[in-house]
Amino acid sequence: MSEAADLPSLWTHEPHIHLAFRPGDKVANIHTNATPGFSGKKGDAPALQAERNQRLAELQEMLYANSKTAGDTRSVLLVLQGMDTAGKGGIVKHVVGAANPQGIRYTSFGKPTEEELAQHYLWRIRRALPPAGHIGVFDRSHYEDVLVVRVHNLVPPDVWGARYDEINAFERELVDGGMTLIKVAMFVSLKEQKKRLAERLERPDKYWKYNPGDIDERLLWPKYEEAYQAMLDRTSTDPAPWHIVPCDRKWYSRLAITELLIEALEALNMSWPPADFDIQAERRRLAEA
Ligand code: ATP
Repeated sequence: MSEAADLPSLWTHEPHIHLAFRPGDKVANIHTNATPGFSGKKGDAPALQAERNQRLAELQEMLYANSKTAGDTRSVLLVLQGMDTAGKGGIVKHVVGAANPQGIRYTSFGKPTEEELAQHYLWRIRRALPPAGHIGVFDRSHYEDVLVVRVHNLVPPDVWGARYDEINAFERELVDGGMTLIKVAMFVSLKEQKKRLAERLERPDKYWKYNPGDIDERLLWPKYEEAYQAMLDRTSTDPAPWHIVPCDRKWYSRLAITELLIEALEALNMSWPPADFDIQAERRRLAEA
């Protein structure tokens, strides 16, 4: 991962260290309004976000360029999983949106279609994986198959129970194939969630985001908390660890996830691919053309 010296000064520690899920961490104890590792304030966020978005865009372009011209087959997958209103959409818009869409493969996973239900639950996931040189973004993911599916008993416990090991094996296969996984679990407090849902009912420009079912899910939080805990306990592995991002302050969660992406991309130790043509000769040819 990147040296601390590369970090913008308002980060006191590399975010991936602060945000890494550790065995024994409890979902019930997450401080959703905390800003771990960040010494700045809300007012510092816009300028820093803009600066880091530029760095992210540069790294993304480098990943893409290396796959196009240097045969680099690596890719990155950002998995966003979180409570309703945690701000997954905002990450897609304000963080990933800064990069060139050409190199991004975005997929949102809603309720499976009939076609998807007829297949293994990883079928639709495999189809959405980022090709070489791309950054994949999963807005929800295969983890729904051990979250909503578990909470609502959509399949028997022995079926969802077997999925944790299966997901670990699947993700190991991806990492062995050259993919870096950045798994982010996003949490808001129930109080903040209520505020965000109320806003969706008050503002005409937000009605479209409101889903009456969100209230039913909110009432099921104790069951979701259990399911999230099991997900973190059982699927945070060395090749594909989980990060926990507190999301009551949107400006913090955006900055933090930007840094997680930058750290992962910097760890690929990329440089711009060298020219595969004679630069001087081409300059001469162009001058004469
Ligand atoms: P969001 O809340 O992410 O903005 P949304 O309300 O617009 O999404 P969709 O994106 O259409 O709705 O679908 C999300 C819903 O699909 C969530 O309620 C989620 O739990 C459900 N879902 C996702 N994957 C599965 C799955 N494998 N099985 C059952 N339900 C799923």
